[in-house]
Amino acid sequence: MAATPPPPTKTPAPVYVPATPTPRGPDKLEAGAALDRLTAGNIRFVAQQMQYPDQAAERRLQAAQAQAPFAAVLCCADACTPPEVIFDQGLNDLYVVRVAGNVTDDPIIGSLEYAAERLGVSLMVVLGHTKCGAVRAALETIYLGAETPAHINSLVKAIEPAVQAALMKPGDPWLNAITANIQLTVTHLQSSPPTLAQKVKAKELQIVGALYDLDTGWVEFLPASTP
Ligand SMILES: [Zn+2]
Repeated sequence: MAATPPPPTKTPAPVYVPATPTPRGPDKLEAGAALDRLTAGNIRFVAQQMQYPDQAAERRLQAAQAQAPFAAVLCCADACTPPEVIFDQGLNDLYVVRVAGNVTDDPIIGSLEYAAERLGVSLMVVLGHTKCGAVRAALETIYLGAETPAHINSLVKAIEPAVQAALMKPGDPWLNAITANIQLTVTHLQSSPPTLAQKVKAKELQIVGALYDLDTGWVEFLPASTP
């Protein structure tokens, strides 16, 4: 005769404890100072004089207490463009959102709103790059009628306005479209209600475009546009 199994023990329901708001970290910087820090890191990267800051175990432990980046970056998913590397930064320095072609949609804007609203970043960088394959795909769709498979088409659709905006400009149409795509994304974020638009208007947040050169490693910050 089989032994009677013991009655199941009742596990108490977990208690949800709301997280306390993330405090503003010691690395909180105003937009100008944040831009200077990114520029200095990029200079170190280009000169191959990296310091690899904020990557030791003690930084990891300190960072685990509270997320406190000094800037947010929206950049392409391209494997050659990791912001922490090209700006020579470390843990808890940058809040990074990556998507092919550095385009926006609701979840991406929501992610950036979190950085502005909850983490208090004053600087947001839209970082495109030379030879961007996502922009190339949009160009080929428009110029050559090329077909893009499955969900890649959604990226092409998001980049098409930039290709159209750059159509009549002299020079390299690929680079022109890449630059226009950065600028359109900046403009879109600057006017995105409610959070980003309000913070830009109140001058609590600066959103700038930047172009990373895959060959030289330089990041060129593009002229500011006002919403
Ligand atoms: Zn790209």
